Amino acid sequence: MKTQSTTTARPRTSLIPVLAMAVPVGLAATGTAAVIIGLGTADDWAVHDMNRPQPTVVSAGTSTCGTTAGTAPSDAIVLFDGSNLDAFKSGNGPAKWVVEDGVAVVNGGDIQTRESFGDVQLHIEWMIPADRKTNGQAGGNSGVFFNNQYEVQILNAFENETYADGTAGSFYGQHPPLVNPCRPKGQWNVYDIIYTAPRWDDNGELTAPGRATVIFNGVVVQNNQAFWGSTAHMRKATYGAPHGPGPIRIQDHGDPIRFQNIWVRPLDG
Ligand code: MG
Repeated sequence: MKTQSTTTARPRTSLIPVLAMAVPVGLAATGTAAVIIGLGTADDWAVHDMNRPQPTVVSAGTSTCGTTAGTAPSDAIVLFDGSNLDAFKSGNGPAKWVVEDGVAVVNGGDIQTRESFGDVQLHIEWMIPADRKTNGQAGGNSGVFFNNQYEVQILNAFENETYADGTAGSFYGQHPPLVNPCRPKGQWNVYDIIYTAPRWDDNGELTAPGRATVIFNGVVVQNNQAFWGSTAHMRKATYGAPHGPGPIRIQDHGDPIRFQNIWVRPLDG
């Protein structure tokens, strides 16, 4: 068994990355020897190699506390910081949602980002107005769609039952959340979502479904869960045509849901 040197300067170009592309995980024979490769990467660094580049320094944002909105980390693309919705559009025009007191309120249809995204970390905060009457799917419904078509549901789920695969934190019509940590109406709920877009090969065959981990008010409710396809109402989800990056869309379901502190960090390089 050949192991990595702890002294040789890196990176080196060798057979290992080539093999790693061909056999991403496991053992690859090289004549009489074999090397451990892969485990998800083709990295070729020695353990504790001081030549390995340092992670980029990022200034962390702040968490929302009570009625004080938090801030984004320094490397995030800020989509909404309370000032305007210029990062979004309604159709081909300016976003129609109303911005008041640093909060965006659903109005006049869905909004979607002007920029397209693939794999991302998304932070978004939402509130059902305290005086809003809700019943099941009615009254407190929105959602965030990745690649414009894979919905993580936003819904009042505090003392409000509905079908499990349509409650807050669900992949709509697919996967219920693992638990329900929804806060009461009038309080901010926070989603931190790590989304990986689906992949297709050159023949248009799906090679990896889209996936997301959803952290809801600090609680994991979806753990690297796979989407069955484009989320839909009363219909089994399937994947449509292969696609690349797309907008992130936020739903207007006819309810005046409030939003604040929306930011995204692309994760696909
Ligand atoms: Mg919805």
